[in-house]
Amino acid sequence: VLDQLPDEPSAPVRSALISCPSCGAPCSLGFGDEAVCVSCQTRVPLSPEIQQARERRREESRKRRQADPYLRRALAAKVSFWRSPTFIAPISYIAPFLAAAMGYQFGYQQNQYGQAGFVWLIGIGLVHFLTSALLESRKDEQLRALLLSQPGPLLEDGTRVVVCRVCAAPLPIPPGRPGSEGSSGEPQDCSCDHCGADNILAAGPGTSQAPRPDLFDAEAVFREVFGDEVNQRASRLYPLTIFLGFVLLAVLTFFAVEAPRSKIP
Ligand SMILES: [Zn+2]
Ligand SMILES: [Zn+2]
Repeated sequence: VLDQLPDEPSAPVRSALISCPSCGAPCSLGFGDEAVCVSCQTRVPLSPEIQQARERRREESRKRRQADPYLRRALAAKVSFWRSPTFIAPISYIAPFLAAAMGYQFGYQQNQYGQAGFVWLIGIGLVHFLTSALLESRKDEQLRALLLSQPGPLLEDGTRVVVCRVCAAPLPIPPGRPGSEGSSGEPQDCSCDHCGADNILAAGPGTSQAPRPDLFDAEAVFREVFGDEVNQRASRLYPLTIFLGFVLLAVLTFFAVEAPRSKIP
């Protein structure tokens, strides 16, 4: 039941290539002259035509993946703990107290109340500038996370099937690859035999997410995370905007505290 994949990139629903003859589950096309059903372990022989079409399509998919700037960007994203909300949120919460300590040190102790307020607000602004810039740089990680393959059912021999993030069909993963870190030249991405969606192979078992057929290609995922051009510009400027807001507030506070006193002779 081999059909030609349509060329258009946004065709989330495509018919399955091959189904298991005994249980009907979608079957990964494997690498040799037979496929193994992950649900019932039935061996499904593959005709030379199917094997040829499989190789041709995988080669096409590989070239497309290599040329996809959004997928390349997602593959290059590194996961860092200092961008995780569990690290950033507490820093944002303690920002006023951190900055208050600075204000006390640099102003209040010398009876410079205007200066104390100024340092306090600039300090809060700096912390928020840093944390919102970190959150902005986290978007590449989110892009990568949405493209990750998903953990599938556990086989009897203890290995876990890796399934497509879009259609949940088992992915064609070379033997020896499952569970490895994707280092030493092993493939880090592959395309689904069934729907053609590009997946980044998750290093560990990971947590299962609901399939997102609406995010078929990497560009759709990019738009989901980054928004349109206006959104992208606004969120790039956000850290600076919030900092400038605090600077303005700090200057106003300084003059509000200092100006009346300077008028008294
Ligand atoms: Zn089966
Ligand atoms: Zn798929």
